[in-house]
Amino acid sequence: MASIQMVDLKTQYLNIKAEIDAAVIECIGSTAYINGPTVKSFQASLEKYLDVNHVIPCANGTDALQVAMMACGLQPGDEVIVPAFTYVATAEVIALLHLTPIIVDVDPNTFNVTAEIIEQAITPKTKAVVPVHLFGQTADMEPILAVAKKHNLYVIEDTAQAIGSVYTFSDGTKKSAGTIGHIGTTSFFPSKNLGCYGDGGAMFTNDSDLNQKLRSVANHGQSTTQYYHDVVGCNSRLDSIQAAILDIKLKYLDSYDAARNKVADAYDAAFAAIEGIQTPVRAANSTHVFHQYTMRIADGKRDELQKYLGEIGIPARIYYPLPLDEQGAFKASAVIPTPLVTTQQLCKEVLSLPIHTEMKEETLKQIIQGVLSFYKK
Ligand SMILES: *Cc1c(COP(=O)(O)O)cnc(C)c1O
Repeated sequence: MASIQMVDLKTQYLNIKAEIDAAVIECIGSTAYINGPTVKSFQASLEKYLDVNHVIPCANGTDALQVAMMACGLQPGDEVIVPAFTYVATAEVIALLHLTPIIVDVDPNTFNVTAEIIEQAITPKTKAVVPVHLFGQTADMEPILAVAKKHNLYVIEDTAQAIGSVYTFSDGTKKSAGTIGHIGTTSFFPSKNLGCYGDGGAMFTNDSDLNQKLRSVANHGQSTTQYYHDVVGCNSRLDSIQAAILDIKLKYLDSYDAARNKVADAYDAAFAAIEGIQTPVRAANSTHVFHQYTMRIADGKRDELQKYLGEIGIPARIYYPLPLDEQGAFKASAVIPTPLVTTQQLCKEVLSLPIHTEMKEETLKQIIQGVLSFYKK
């Protein structure tokens, strides 16, 4: 039997191989490797899919965050609020730009930041907040937007794990994750929900002024005239070949999300009766695209369960084992306004099971049986 993987990129590729191979070969033959027609086509497809005015492709999700902060004109010493429970990239670019990361706690159920938590951390120096739509569902954005507006903050949504998730406002309006604040950022890292076959990323905005600034910063700070550079920028582009791949995969994104939800539903049902497991809590006003299926394992049993599963051939991962402020990289620069009680607890309790778009019925059963057998010991 093939070993179980956290994600199965190979089978997903084989299922669309003919289409992908043709597009890649065509792109190579075209020699339009940088900013070619495939980049423009994918950009237009993604704008339509997300219902957003501007998609600005770039080299990866980390660059997207950095370019977003540069385009907002954030200056050294400005404070940016970021959740403690996230991937390192979010805080890394804050520190790289000599901004001050204000690290805050998250909600124990959704694992996302809330407006309340953000508001407690705001000072006169705060210029931006970065809600991270962790594991595939959108943070509760309506109250976050209200707090940001009241305090004149930029809202940069880190959508690396939640592209395709849809948020519903109290008046019934629906918006895609990443199109709600001033700028959304995402990553097309291979294992992300919309992944390419290398590195890739993008920024989204409805604001035409920010669109120009984002494009300029990502293109060496160039103005609209070639070889005239108004601001210091960087070089962050999405390769034409990756764009060709993404334009094809975007057509399948909704079916991929549905496949992930099917796996999540099966896990939910199987573990509902187990007291030691808190299955993922679905936010009332957001769809979940299950980038990860992340459980909370009670009674200090997380590490034991992970080890047990490993021994019977079932991989399970810890996203994330350490709060941001405890990472060596941020020990010096991070400001922690209030104790990160929930994050510390989550780092000890979370465990993510394999979830992907090509999960076979028998694999799913095997994983479920494996978890259940641990609790029957
Ligand atoms: C993956 C990820 C990033 C970084 O994306 P890269 O394309 O790897 O640079 C940023 N934030 C979050 C939350 C991520 O999961």
